[in-house]
Amino acid sequence: MAQTRNVVIGMDLGGTNVRAAVFSMEGALLARRQTLMEAARGPAVGLENVRKLIEEVLGLAGSVALRGIGIGSTGPLDRARGTIQNPWTLPTWKDVDIVSPLSAHFHVPVMLENDADAAALGEYWQGAGKGVRRLCALTVGTGVGTGFILDGSIYRGWRGLHCEVGHQVLDPNGPECYCGAHGCMEVLIAGPALGKLAREKAAAGENSLLWEMAGGNIDQIDARTAMEAARRGDPAALEVAQHAGRYLGLGLVNIIAFLAPEVIVLGGSVMSSYDLLQPIVREILERHSVLMPSREVCIVPAQLGDNAGVCGAALTAIQTLPRAGRTI
Ligand SMILES: [Zn+2]
Repeated sequence: MAQTRNVVIGMDLGGTNVRAAVFSMEGALLARRQTLMEAARGPAVGLENVRKLIEEVLGLAGSVALRGIGIGSTGPLDRARGTIQNPWTLPTWKDVDIVSPLSAHFHVPVMLENDADAAALGEYWQGAGKGVRRLCALTVGTGVGTGFILDGSIYRGWRGLHCEVGHQVLDPNGPECYCGAHGCMEVLIAGPALGKLAREKAAAGENSLLWEMAGGNIDQIDARTAMEAARRGDPAALEVAQHAGRYLGLGLVNIIAFLAPEVIVLGGSVMSSYDLLQPIVREILERHSVLMPSREVCIVPAQLGDNAGVCGAALTAIQTLPRAGRTI
């Protein structure tokens, strides 16, 4: 008979999808699955989807004993109370306790973390920041998430607060963000912001390649279209890339000035085009990061892709277990 293996579950809970993966205590990924959150149908449906997903992925992992669950979730959230309060990306989710029902059902400790912190911890454990003492991870996709890992642990603010570096203000005259600020990093460089800017550029110039790539339908132009058109030399799309590089660069200037990390890991869909933005980012760093040795900071692509969140969340679960019997 196969030996029962101790495992933890790492989850990545987002506005659209929720992912779950089973990890051994040594960090081997044994099974992975995802489903829709259906957040708009209310927390009861969402929680039921999460519970079913955990049971399903455990079933795929073979003969295992569950020891803990770590959840990296889109924030804001209250770690101490185990509640998610994010009506922006999880409509109807206001002060929803996710920890107690899962802990009661599966009889294991459940840890709740911000998803950007979980992704940063994942890259530290198994990805591009393996073993780095001061690591910053920046995820640029639908939003901008940041996490800072110090000596293998998530850096937390007062009351355990997650630091919202993605909402640092880079242009007070910029567009308004859902957070209430004007010109914060997220509203300047996240995917939706770049898509909007590309549509504005396309509307102003009929000859742009953006039109051709979108089949003549302006609504089809998004950040990905813009980055591809920029790669092909389209002037309007290059302006979008210039904008993204400039504000990403300014954000990094601040991150380096405040935290002086050895490594900055860039992940998320927008950062898959980082090679396009890199010359502009480097120029901004040269000009605005004079007192810091920013040239020596390694700015590297993330390695774990979609698995960063589940991986880091699993590690938060492992870190809560008694040291005896674990290798990390
Ligand atoms: Zn904001």
